[in-house]
Amino acid sequence: MNTDTEGGKKGKPNFFWSVFTMKCPRCRRGKMFTNNNPWNLKKVLSMYDRCPECAQPYELEVGFWYGTGFVSYGLSIVLTIVSFVAWYIFIGMSVRDNRFFWWMGINIGLLIVLQPWLMRMSRVIYVHFFVKYDSNYKNTSVKTFDYNSEGYSKKTSTD
Ligand SMILES: [Zn+2]
Repeated sequence: MNTDTEGGKKGKPNFFWSVFTMKCPRCRRGKMFTNNNPWNLKKVLSMYDRCPECAQPYELEVGFWYGTGFVSYGLSIVLTIVSFVAWYIFIGMSVRDNRFFWWMGINIGLLIVLQPWLMRMSRVIYVHFFVKYDSNYKNTSVKTFDYNSEGYSKKTSTD
């Protein structure tokens, strides 16, 4: 009676963990990027077309990834706030010395160094907005935008 139900609720991978480890939003098991190291700059955005585990396509339409610019902008702001608070707590700031400018320089350096990771992370977060976890992914069809799905033949206008 042990049927193929390992994708059930019991084995549901954590949302944040699947984002952090850059896994497919639908099954939370398949990898999104072909190379694990984002700092391998030749392969920084080299992705699987479809999830190796559940066949979910990642680029849901042509130009889908353009929206990730806003996500990476938001992530940069969050990181800046976090580094500011951490600096303020552990190192402190004063108008009488240059500690504020040290923070600014280090924060800019940090954002540059993290850029490849941020580019990937913004794609991961972005696709998680559109594709939800499906515990039954082995028996359901992949998520697509309406006009890409079967039985939708009318031409659509843009949003
Ligand atoms: Zn998947």
